[in-house]
Amino acid sequence: MDGASITAAALKSQGVEYMFGVVGFPIIEVGMAAQAHGIKYIGCRNEQAAAYAAQAMGYLTGKPVALLVVSGPGILHAIGGLANATVNCWPVVCIGGTADVDLENRGAFQEWSQQESVRSACKHVSRPTNLHTIPAHIEKAVRSAMYGRPGAVYVDLPGNLVLSSTEEEINFPAQVPLPAPVSIPPIAEIEKAVSALKEAKKPLVIVGKGAAWSERGATQVQQFLTKSKLPWLATPGGKGVASDLHPRFIGQARSLALREADTVFLIGARFNWILHFGLPPRFQRDVKVVQIDICPEEFHQNVKTEVPLLGDIGETLAELTPRLGEWAYDESSDWFKKLRENAEKNRIAVEKLVDDHSTPLNYYAAYQPIREFLANNDVIVVNEGANTMDIGRTMMPSRLPKRRLDAGTFGTMGVGQGFALAAAIWARDHSPKTKVLVVQGDSAFGFSAMELETIARYNLPVVTVIINNSGIYRGLLPEDDKAIEGDRTLALPVLSLTAECRYEEMCKAFGGAGTVVRTVPEIKSALEKAFQKTDGPTVINALISTDSERKPQADHWLTRSKM
Ligand code: ADP
Ligand code: MG
Repeated sequence: MDGASITAAALKSQGVEYMFGVVGFPIIEVGMAAQAHGIKYIGCRNEQAAAYAAQAMGYLTGKPVALLVVSGPGILHAIGGLANATVNCWPVVCIGGTADVDLENRGAFQEWSQQESVRSACKHVSRPTNLHTIPAHIEKAVRSAMYGRPGAVYVDLPGNLVLSSTEEEINFPAQVPLPAPVSIPPIAEIEKAVSALKEAKKPLVIVGKGAAWSERGATQVQQFLTKSKLPWLATPGGKGVASDLHPRFIGQARSLALREADTVFLIGARFNWILHFGLPPRFQRDVKVVQIDICPEEFHQNVKTEVPLLGDIGETLAELTPRLGEWAYDESSDWFKKLRENAEKNRIAVEKLVDDHSTPLNYYAAYQPIREFLANNDVIVVNEGANTMDIGRTMMPSRLPKRRLDAGTFGTMGVGQGFALAAAIWARDHSPKTKVLVVQGDSAFGFSAMELETIARYNLPVVTVIINNSGIYRGLLPEDDKAIEGDRTLALPVLSLTAECRYEEMCKAFGGAGTVVRTVPEIKSALEKAFQKTDGPTVINALISTDSERKPQADHWLTRSKM
């Protein structure tokens, strides 16, 4: 067997079903061997996008997914994607070709200190030094990616190993059992948590994306919310674990709920920037925190954790919910009334913007036909951009777990087309009724736009709506653009991109469909038409106002709390 086949067989024996990558010397043979072993190979145009695709597939399937990249520049391009996976707590197993061992330090082709470079982006890094040890390295890589808090791992594969072969028998370790082993917190701690929730005057449950990852997380969270009758909201990544249409979802009163809650039950979410560090002015100074997490280092982060529940979310809630007994939170309490009134007030303010169909459109109006479409279909939504994503969170209700992929904890722009590629293959193979819709800003689209060709090449029915305001946050009109004279490097605003750029033409060039729209009815009919197409991508280029903004916020999303 040669090194390429051993690597492929090892991945296959670990349950790897998909490999994303960009091939070249010295790993072309690994890609070929993967296919020969029945691993589906998806060839991307840039390693970063391939890494985004692989991690999204890992999240959607709950299984290890491989990423295959070449040496030097290949692995360096992938690092952004690996870091995104680790920060997001999503698994991905990267295999990187590298220079032959005996050419190291001699200026070999694409020679680079790859292991050192990837280390800070990965949970685990290793390099087999002979053919016999490749399977054990792959096994440990898969186990490290999937067990505990998931993340990116890297196996460095020297070119001389890939291409050499042995007549000797190779031993393959047993498959890493999945789902990962789980634990539950001590029962005394669970009972403390129950007491804390019962004693709270202004309780709030926050559901994060750890709940989507936990094997039984979504069903157990739903049962807990039904039984406890507590008011709740989701983080962006936790959206869909329970439906936004749930009667006690108070996401529209987010700022008020965070600011006034006396007890917060954090289920698989972190007190990082997304939750304003759990600190004043966004939270009460003495807010009581009950928290479930799989990772002990996460407790007491920024704020003291009153009751740390170290364990798997699904398993912990399965113990906790029955211990509520006959108790349920009083839905007629003043706290609930206040939350509901505030939610309703905010809803009405948003609907005013939604109803303003004057052109060029504002963001909210542009989202209206999209919201309508989502209400009647099972769709994985990929959402990124600045305002496009912030507004998309409110304008696109989530009803099912793992149906929303966005810029995530790392706030990464450029994930969209890679995530969509993975989502479309997942839907094709595992959930044929599920559609894939990308809603992204024009700037976000630009980071990985070439992956449209990948999506077209694999014949995947991905619909992308570009909410195009001709810039980053805001842009220029074609007439402003023309009025800029002299040296554009001095005169063109740093936020602007090409005014009313015709991105949909790119999609047509790749054999897909493309259309430009400016009004609500045009977006609506373009969406309907796009989703009738079952092969290849469609880009709907929605030209909106160049200065549309988000509804004024009491506190901006990125506002730093005082530490
Ligand atoms: P969000 O963006 O929704 O706030 P984060 O990614 O910040 O979510 O946090 C998710 C948290 O969930 C992480 O701290 C992670 O350790 C935790 N987590 C992941 N899987 C599980 C699980 N199965 N059980 C418990 N906690 C989990
Ligand atoms: Mg823009």
